[in-house]
Amino acid sequence: MLNIGRKLESFQMKEIQSKLFQFFFKKEADMKKIQQTWSLTAEVKVQIKNLLEYYKTVKLGRQLAAVVGEVMEYNLFEGENGKKKFIKAKIRMKIDQPVKMGTNIGCKIDGITWVDFKYEKLPTFCYFCRMIGHDEGICEKAEEQEGGSQSKSKELEHG
Ligand SMILES: [Zn+2]
Repeated sequence: MLNIGRKLESFQMKEIQSKLFQFFFKKEADMKKIQQTWSLTAEVKVQIKNLLEYYKTVKLGRQLAAVVGEVMEYNLFEGENGKKKFIKAKIRMKIDQPVKMGTNIGCKIDGITWVDFKYEKLPTFCYFCRMIGHDEGICEKAEEQEGGSQSKSKELEHG
């Protein structure tokens, strides 16, 4: 991690929620520098669901967890009382890109299977654009799309 705070005099950071930060910039140039050099991350726990029983290995678990972000811890848990095994990982993921809800894995015998990522303790999350930091009620992308469809229907009315 670069020591950005020291480099940029006009840079301030205020914690507004655990692991969510709001930034204040005096110069636009500083903002650009930050965007280039530092992506915000959040620590999340993910359970990997929908895996075939014989896919449940520590090695594959790690590979799948790496789809979400930087894997910090991972393990294969033995389910108690005859319950199925499951893979769980602690991951540092970037919050400036959409949250990954799963991934495809496949092999020649079984074909391609969709694997679900079930997040524990995900920060405020938008189900519309899958970004962390806001919910769909205040989502700019959802608003944009609503606006877009409205103007389209107007065109149809007049056309
Ligand atoms: Zn959104």
